[in-house]
Amino acid sequence: MGVSELDHAVCRENVLKPMDAEQLREHAHKMVDFIADYYKTIEDFPVLSQVEPGYLRKLLPDSAPDKPESLQSVLDDVQAKILPGVTHWQSPNYFAYFPSNSSVAGFLGEMLSAGINMVGFSWITSPAATELETIVLDWLGKTLKLPEEFLSAGQGGGVIQGTASEAVLVVLLAARDRVLRRVGKNALEKLVVYSSDQAHSALQKACQIAGIHPENCRVLKADSSTNYALNPDTLNQAISRDISIGLLPFFLSATVGTTSSTAVDPLLALGKVAKCNGIWFHVDAAYAGSACICPENRHYIDGVEEADSFNMNAHKWFLTNFDCSPLWVKDRNALIQSLSTNPEFLKNKASQANMVVDYKDWQIPLGRRFRSLKLWMVLRLYGLENLQSYIRNHINLAKYFEGLVLEDKRFEVVTPRTFSLVCFRLLPPDNTEDGGNKLNQDLLDAVNSSGKIFISHTVLSGKYILRFAIGAPLTEEAHVTAAWKVFQDEASALLRSL
Ligand SMILES: *Cc1c(COP(=O)(O)O)cnc(C)c1O
Repeated sequence: MGVSELDHAVCRENVLKPMDAEQLREHAHKMVDFIADYYKTIEDFPVLSQVEPGYLRKLLPDSAPDKPESLQSVLDDVQAKILPGVTHWQSPNYFAYFPSNSSVAGFLGEMLSAGINMVGFSWITSPAATELETIVLDWLGKTLKLPEEFLSAGQGGGVIQGTASEAVLVVLLAARDRVLRRVGKNALEKLVVYSSDQAHSALQKACQIAGIHPENCRVLKADSSTNYALNPDTLNQAISRDISIGLLPFFLSATVGTTSSTAVDPLLALGKVAKCNGIWFHVDAAYAGSACICPENRHYIDGVEEADSFNMNAHKWFLTNFDCSPLWVKDRNALIQSLSTNPEFLKNKASQANMVVDYKDWQIPLGRRFRSLKLWMVLRLYGLENLQSYIRNHINLAKYFEGLVLEDKRFEVVTPRTFSLVCFRLLPPDNTEDGGNKLNQDLLDAVNSSGKIFISHTVLSGKYILRFAIGAPLTEEAHVTAAWKVFQDEASALLRSL
């Protein structure tokens, strides 16, 4: 044997076997035990991580190891060094932003998806991934009673985006290119986008990416008398003004369940205005869409028949582990015309013959995960009745919390509760200059640094407001009761110190 052949033989002996089935079995069982124990003890951690910026660099080596380490040593580091820097979104005492549900079904779906680990950009790269996605989004679309045009049998259909931000971006691009095909590319700087000032910042980001002139993003003042919904007259006036100065209105994004206060824009009336003006009408129901699977809440999306696209985040309040953001469109060709490419290296008979869906043409990236598995598992392992009662339970808990706030005259509920978010604040003693904003900031800091609960805030009409968003899968009435006690105790301490 020559030297180089010898090297090769030695190399072959030691070559890494990174996906050995028996090692997977052993290690994955260990990992599942670790995760199950995490959930069992999740309430022992401060909900909001209390570490300082840069804490981790001090705890980890400067470079990657040359030799392998054991799984146990990694898990020990996770316990000692990583978990302290985790904010526990799955804690039952997590009430910040909006929830981001995990569940056994969602977890198993993620696990299976990680196991299969295919990259399903075209139908041929894993026919089941594409076909299951189409079917599951038809299921969910029917559950939400979306109009037929959003289902796959006609010209429309559903696609799972990673996030609501990507969803609004892709429909904005589709709408932009549709209008530019009609009026010519030079009109880009005349295009105008409409939303209320309560729309999510994802829309602004999408406009930046899509090259919409910054001065043509109409952020219309929401109506404080309707819990900050967008008034259709306000929209109508803005559109007329823009048309009169030669601009081209082309996109409206309405929200069902705004991030600040869960305001519901009046879809039917807004949709009519959009339709009259040939505007693409997008509905962002990222958080509240889940609630609309309950018949008693479905009316919040009445008017969705006027929309061109509709989006909800199953990864928020629908027990589907992050990420999973279903988007439905009525005209899938608008998306495809904007986002498709057809390079030689991806050509195949099924795609060429136009017999299949290639979801790569409905999204920004090429590669895509098998996300439909987890949504399918959530729907099958829980069933609609359980999912509906899951949502109802959180809404009832929010009503309960709202009642507790209303009973304590030191506090006020600031906007009417619609879903499972309560917006409230501590009333300032009479002569407070800033109307109590600093007081409520201090209260937020106090409750969050207690580690007992985690909440977030917003500002509406200049008022600093505490947001208490219920929706974590483990939250029960006792957690809500205890959380209210934290507010009361910290408020008493703050008021005493004034
Ligand atoms: C959460 C949320 C978003 C952004 O969601 P991502 O999936 O993180 O992009 C957008 N709009 C609304 C109304 C939301 O609640």
